[in-house]
Amino acid sequence: MKYLTFHERYAAVEALHARDCPEAKVGRLGKSILGRLASLDQKMLTESDGIALADYAAFYLGNAKSLEKDMVPWLKMCITEPVGLAFLRRWLVSFRVANVADGDGVAIFRSLAKLFVDQFEPALMRPEPLNKKPRHTYIYSETTTSEPFFTAGPIGDLILNLIEVGATEELDRFAAVMEDHAMRINDMDLFVLWMPLLGILHSSPRCSAEELAHPRYVRIFEPLITALIKNFLGPRPQAESLSRRPVPCNCRDCLCLNRFLTDPGMDQDHFPMGKARRQHLHQVLDRAGIDCTHETLRRGNPQPLIVRKTNTKHAKRVEAWETKHALLSRQISCMKDTLRVVLGNRWEAVTALPGVEASGLTARNQQGQQRVAGTKRKIEFIDLTEED
Ligand SMILES: [Zn+2]
Repeated sequence: MKYLTFHERYAAVEALHARDCPEAKVGRLGKSILGRLASLDQKMLTESDGIALADYAAFYLGNAKSLEKDMVPWLKMCITEPVGLAFLRRWLVSFRVANVADGDGVAIFRSLAKLFVDQFEPALMRPEPLNKKPRHTYIYSETTTSEPFFTAGPIGDLILNLIEVGATEELDRFAAVMEDHAMRINDMDLFVLWMPLLGILHSSPRCSAEELAHPRYVRIFEPLITALIKNFLGPRPQAESLSRRPVPCNCRDCLCLNRFLTDPGMDQDHFPMGKARRQHLHQVLDRAGIDCTHETLRRGNPQPLIVRKTNTKHAKRVEAWETKHALLSRQISCMKDTLRVVLGNRWEAVTALPGVEASGLTARNQQGQQRVAGTKRKIEFIDLTEED
């Protein structure tokens, strides 16, 4: 059985009653939709539903009293869900078009926005996974669900709307929560959901350069950048020693093998033995996933098994880290102008990335030197914050 989401039902009912006079519309829609509100699962509602709910509230609940009575208590329960945030985003547009009195509309926005900033937990807000396409309908069964996700747009609009209505207390509260929670936000969420806020604010005519230079934006974006450098990039993977973990077998051949594996000074050894015993060593090494190569040298009697320790896992980790490093460098370089406005002349210190000097590639050595200098500046900067 296919269930329509709230915004689809709303669009359908609106289309059906398109020719009604406004009064008849309000009456019919009020009954057909309001009655269903209580039965909606708030955790399943998406951004699109939030937009439809704001339009519905503005156009069909008519006045501030019925809004306060019928809609606000229900919204309070889901204000920190994507649906609540989307409602806040749309509401300031909808209520003005629908001629709700300005004072009433703004008061409702502020009371819901205050609830949001008091309750939201940035580390629990999930953006849509990058490889997934949005689904607007869902089949109601145990095997498929449509999970509502957060996007940067409504969060950015919340900040812009708070600026617009002069809600400085709510803005400061938002900044305080971000400052406390940024380090707990996971790496990709920082990248996909939170960092785009900086671009949204900077490119909007509703957020002036003077506004962006207010210390509250340092409290929002500096912890986010620090978290990004620490959680998303982290330190360069350290080179492993030659010591490898032993294989889980106590036979005499494996004891010899383990002596070699755990020895931090030996990078290869040979084990002359018959085919069956060599076969056993092949198997234990493969099963234990030891980072090494093992092959039989077709020479001598018995032929020796040559085991060489390798560093493929470490090399892969370094490669992944260097890819992230390049990505982050590019991102910071793109945001340079905005970062200057928010962080002033400390922007370089805050955005200094760990050096890539240990890569062994001569081409990168010089770059690495510069970044080490940057890291030092960062330490100075951390001391300054502690004094505050
Ligand atoms: Zn063994």
